Parts: sequence; C-alpha cells; structure tokens
Amino acid sequence: MIQKVAVLGAGTMGAGIAQACAQAGLDTRLRDIKQAFLDKAIDRLRGPLERRVEKGRMGQDEVDDIFANLTTTTDLDAALEDVDLVIEAVPEDLELKRKVFAEVDQAAPDDAILATNTSSLVVGDLAKVTARPERFGGLHFFFPANINKLLEVIAHDGTDPEVHAALLDFGRAIGKVVIETADASGFCVNRFFVPWVNEAVRMLDEGVANKATIDAAAEEAFGVTMGPFALMNATGVPISLHAQRTLHDAFGAFYEPAEGLVHQVEEVGEDWAIDGEVDEEAFQTVADRLKAVVFAISCHLVEEEVARPVDTDKGAVVGLRWKKGPFAMMNAMGTAAALEL
Ligand code: NAD
Repeated sequence: MIQKVAVLGAGTMGAGIAQACAQAGLDTRLRDIKQAFLDKAIDRLRGPLERRVEKGRMGQDEVDDIFANLTTTTDLDAALEDVDLVIEAVPEDLELKRKVFAEVDQAAPDDAILATNTSSLVVGDLAKVTARPERFGGLHFFFPANINKLLEVIAHDGTDPEVHAALLDFGRAIGKVVIETADASGFCVNRFFVPWVNEAVRMLDEGVANKATIDAAAEEAFGVTMGPFALMNATGVPISLHAQRTLHDAFGAFYEPAEGLVHQVEEVGEDWAIDGEVDEEAFQTVADRLKAVVFAISCHLVEEEVARPVDTDKGAVVGLRWKKGPFAMMNAMGTAAALEL
C-alpha cells in the first residue's frame, strides 16, 4: 500500500498532485530546488481552499488536515526518506529528468516505485537511467491536477505487473478515474485531443469557416464549454504546437502541424483573436471534420493496443469533459456513418 509519497517539482502540476495526495490522507512531501518556489506553491493551493471554507463548501478542519499531511522541503534525502512512491513533475526536459531520476534512484528506498508525469517523453527511456526499471511507470495527471479526476497510468515494456497494479490502486485511492495506456507518444487522450485542436486550425487555413464558427460548432458537437481556439488561448497556443510536433515526430504526416498554428506561434506570437459572425450553415462540415479525426485516431489507439475503447471514452468524458467519448459517439451515429466520415 502506498502511504508515503514524494512529489518532485512544485510548479503548475506538482503542487496540484501533492494536494491530491495530501487530501487523500497520504504523507506527502513536496520538493523543489528553492524554498521560495515551495512557498509560492502552498500559497497557490491555500487561496482556493480558504475560499471554499468561506463559502461553507469545506470545513476548516479538512483544510488543516491537507496541510498537516503536506510538508515542503528542498532537501531530496528528506523528501525521499522511507517513501513508497516518487512522482516526478519537473520541467519537460529529457536531460533534467534523467539527472533527477539518477539521483532519486540512489537516494530512494530500494522498494520505492518511481513515476514520471511527463506529457511527451517516452517513459521507458527514463526508466532506463535507473537500476529499477521494473519499479518504474508513468502517472500522467491532467491540469488542474488537484481537481481534474483523470489519471493515465502508463506501464512501459519492463514495468512489473504488480507495480502497474499498485499504481492503478494508488490512482483510485487518491480519488482519480484511472485509465491504462501503453507507453506511446501522447498516451491516450492527447493523441486524439491535440489533433482535434490542430484540425480546427486546418479548417481555418482552408477557409472552411472562421474561428468563432469553428468554436461554436465544436461546442455543440462535443458538448463542451470551450471550442479549440478558446482552449488554445486558455492553455497557451505554443503548447498546442509543441504537442502536435511531438505527435508528428512519432507518427508522421497525418499529424503535421497546421500551417496557421505554426504561423500563429512563430510569426504572430499572440493568442487567437476569435472574432467574426458565427455561420451555422458550416456547423455540420466542421463537426464532421473534427469527429473524423477523433474517430480515426481512437481506432488506431485500439489497434495499436495503446488504449481500450472504454478507457478512451473515459479519458474524453472525465479528462476533457466531452459529453460522450469517441466510441460512444460512433455508436450513436452508427459505425457505418462514422467510417464514412
Ligand atoms: P513547471 O515549470 O510549472 O514546474 C516545474 C517545477 O519543477 C518548477 O517549480 C521547478 O523549479 C521545479 N524543478 C526543477 N528542477 C527540479 C529538481 N531537480 N527537483 C525538484 N524540482 C525541480 O512545470 P509543469 O507545467 O508543472 O510540468 C511538469 C511536468 O508535468 C512536465 O513533465 C510536463 O510535461 C508535465 N505535465 C504538464 C501539464 C500541464 O498542463 N502543465 C499537464 C500534464 C503533464
């Protein structure tokens, strides 16, 4: 049973991951390289929790329990003392992560499980720098990690099945909906979600519709509150380009970044201006194109044994808050019609 967890990196993801662990009653140590980063992370977590207490949605004692379970330190040895699980959430840089895992492998108890929150690196490549690749896996959380319930659990080729099972149990114990994915670029959800966004820009490039129309059509077809352009603005347009390039490198031409996306990041350097009239006549075409991309990739995920249909649908509904997952959507419209798209 995993009871003591060290989270390395107190940034956007690490702080939220640590809160989720502490909130589930686990002894949680959050480690960063400067105390100032840790203090900032705690402040970022405390604000929304205090507001929940003020609104009567949470008891002060619950908040006190979270912070009693959550300690911060810059000392790696202190963070790793007697720990059962280490979750690495340092910046997405292969060399940095390799260095961190080499150190952690030396300092952590021999039976501790090591996991990475990487979005785009190969989990097996990181496992290789340790002397315990069989006790290594991926735990891919979704932003904001203290709130979003989805967790992708990744076994690389050498992960011991018992370690895989322990990671799945850990995810459930901290209240996540866990889905299993293989160690393939983009894992499950980003593999179809990032191209969904890219297809929106392709349609803009081709003059199929303007941004306001594409967003409105996507909101209606997928039952979401933000279309692809609004979402890119919220998460940062460069992140979409980076993620699409990673998929392109791994899987080839179908995943080539849209020209407009490259232009927006490298020439314009700003968020998208989502203006213009919404043209409802274009809704069907836009929805069909977005669905076609998602359906094709979802089927590839299953063929390649990266993820099962049930997990792919959970990923879409829980992680992305779509009204239905890709396979439920295909069933609803009929698989023959889906194939036609
Ligand atoms: P971030 O830059 O916000 O935070 C990284 C933190 O790690 C920083 O506070 C930094 O000081 C700290 N750090 C650097 N070196 C360290 C070390 N040796 N030991 C401990 N801490 C160290 O990054 P982030 O957005 O939280 O991303 C972290 C990881 O999570 C990346 O691999 C990223 O791909 C992945 N991820 C990010 C998101 C997202 O939406 N941001 C979603 C899923 C996964």
